[in-house]
Amino acid sequence: MKTRSVLILTLAVAGLPTLPLPAAAYVRTVTEAGAPSAWKTPCPTMEFSLGAPPPEMDAPSYLAAAQAAGVAWSQASMNGIDRCSNVIFTVVPVPDVAGPVGMDYHNRLIFRQDSFYDPYALAITSVFQLKNSGEILDADLEVNAYNFTWGDFAAHPELFQTNTQDFQGTVTHEFGHVIGLDHTCYEPGAAFADGKPIPRPTDNLGNPVPDCSDYDLPAVITGATMYVSVASPAAEVELRSLSPDDAQAACEIYPVTPDFVCLPPSGAYEVAGGGGCSYPAGARRDSIACVLVLLVMATVVRRRR
Ligand SMILES: [Zn+2]
Repeated sequence: MKTRSVLILTLAVAGLPTLPLPAAAYVRTVTEAGAPSAWKTPCPTMEFSLGAPPPEMDAPSYLAAAQAAGVAWSQASMNGIDRCSNVIFTVVPVPDVAGPVGMDYHNRLIFRQDSFYDPYALAITSVFQLKNSGEILDADLEVNAYNFTWGDFAAHPELFQTNTQDFQGTVTHEFGHVIGLDHTCYEPGAAFADGKPIPRPTDNLGNPVPDCSDYDLPAVITGATMYVSVASPAAEVELRSLSPDDAQAACEIYPVTPDFVCLPPSGAYEVAGGGGCSYPAGARRDSIACVLVLLVMATVVRRRR
């Protein structure tokens, strides 16, 4: 396995034409009615079930990693402004093993240790939102601790050689889904919860996003925390740090205001699901699911093109 930077270097040496990099490439989740997803006030409190976490790390370490993932978004900076977004993630430990996933105004962060939807998915985030307004009401994040073990790659690079994944990096990516961000590329075949195909999204500049399977995706897309996959342990650690486009997303969707006050979601729950990332059909009928999938083989093929 090689890192993304090796991929870019290979292309440059090969003399392939250099595509102009778009100035920005963040992508918002859009409901089936076309409304971009967003919290009314972006202050999700994530209830982290730490009653019986996977044994590779202790509960305080998992909690610290998840809180750091939240800080990455809460401290998004752009154009020299230290904190340009109203996003405030709060991660609190709760003593249960795994709280329920569903529309209950409780945002969960849980480990799945007995089974998982997809053996290649590191995690799945279900976002519940109002179809017409796009207001996000609830988001639940399930971490695949059935097919993977979890660790801290920054502190323990020796874990690169195992089936372990970087917990903080993955949670940082999933928290991007929690605040309404989609992947920076398109996965044909993605469908809404009712089975209707998700149209190709456009990025913040109005440009249709490229297929995730394209071989010459620019670094601005593949280097984002919201890129669809991780190809190497180093790339997983990179997910912890927002790319400029990730930060721009947080700061433009939720611009910082001096008198900001966190409020609970408004209104009654009306429609579950309605926009977002793909997941194999049948996995979940009542929610949007976003997956972060390891595409090791696909990346190897890409490099050889
Ligand atoms: Zn994802």
